[in-house]
Amino acid sequence: MSESTERFVIEIGSGTVAHIIDMDAGALEDDDRFSLSPSAPGEKMCSRSSRHPRYRRVPLSEFVTQNEIDKEGFEGDAPGEICSYCWSNTRDALADEQERADDDVSERIGTIGYRLRWKQKGRARDEWYDIVVGPETTMAELDRLVCRFTTLDDFHLRMYGLEDEYLDSSINMLPDHQYEQAGDRSDTKASEMTVGEVAERGALWEGDRLSLVYDFGTPSHYYCIVKEVYEPDELDGVLDDIDVIASTETAAIVREKRPQ
Ligand SMILES: [Zn+2]
Repeated sequence: MSESTERFVIEIGSGTVAHIIDMDAGALEDDDRFSLSPSAPGEKMCSRSSRHPRYRRVPLSEFVTQNEIDKEGFEGDAPGEICSYCWSNTRDALADEQERADDDVSERIGTIGYRLRWKQKGRARDEWYDIVVGPETTMAELDRLVCRFTTLDDFHLRMYGLEDEYLDSSINMLPDHQYEQAGDRSDTKASEMTVGEVAERGALWEGDRLSLVYDFGTPSHYYCIVKEVYEPDELDGVLDDIDVIASTETAAIVREKRPQ
């Protein structure tokens, strides 16, 4: 069981099954403040029995190990040792929380900035460049900064893609000069596509990647990993506080590791 092991404990009372206690819940509630009897910590996940401060409480992970329960998280039916009401309530509560967290993330994508660590495939340890971009940064600006360390110029055909897209991009974006020469209706000019739009398409978040392939005859492959996500108000601070190595209007190379 993963991170929920810290949060949930098992309370072993007088009944035949043990109950689940959410130690994060109830911490801010002070209903019991005026009560003279001591209360047990956390909140029980069902209302099937009463609690007592003297009942034994063990971390979920310990209980699982002791009872040789074969479960990964709160999935499926409750194991025989644990109250099935507690089990399904916990499972539902965690699913709701996950859904709310996902909604929150998808609402923010398109308004946030990123620190993108660019590396060349095969030599990722020797050399990398961190570029901070905002949602309004155009792909042309990003491309201009990438060109600084890749020695790419207008003569190199190149293509940006989501995640592991290689020689086949769903972004359909071309550097402006290439668009003038070779673009068709399905393509967008780099100066007319923002990082925010690309982020929305790829639901870009920490740990995700973008790719860059160039010289299609003998293709070279760069990629970047999202190292950090910045809220809009954080972003200005990041770009103002750091001695940037190179910058455009809304983006900058902020750190680099170069080969010795
Ligand atoms: Zn219960």
